[in-house]
Amino acid sequence: MGENLYCIRRTATVEEADVIVAWLEDQGVEATVMDRDNPGVFAFGLTDAEGVAICVADEAVAEKGKTLLVEHDRQRDLAMVNAATTDDIEVKCDACGQVSAFAAELAGTTQQCVGCNEYVDVPGGVEASEAD
Ligand SMILES: [Zn+2]
Repeated sequence: MGENLYCIRRTATVEEADVIVAWLEDQGVEATVMDRDNPGVFAFGLTDAEGVAICVADEAVAEKGKTLLVEHDRQRDLAMVNAATTDDIEVKCDACGQVSAFAAELAGTTQQCVGCNEYVDVPGGVEASEAD
């Protein structure tokens, strides 16, 4: 056993690999982090360009694992999209051109540019009706 390992994923860090392996085990897929003993992992936090390999011992398990990882990535991407759309409002400063991001609850208020401290109007809110 152990002769034919099927690599189903490579990650940049051992920590990321551990998270995925733990998640896979929750789904009933037994996976192993390879390259854990790679000295580069501990010296630099990263392995070589190929990264840390996550392998399983069986081709059928590999197929199941890959399918699960597609779903895993999809959920992660969705979470990232949700995190990115926390409704920050971007305002470009008329004075210096710097784009500042303000929380959605600041819509309709006046804030200061992060670049030059000029006052900028954060659009939004019911009273933001001026066309120009
Ligand atoms: Zn500015």
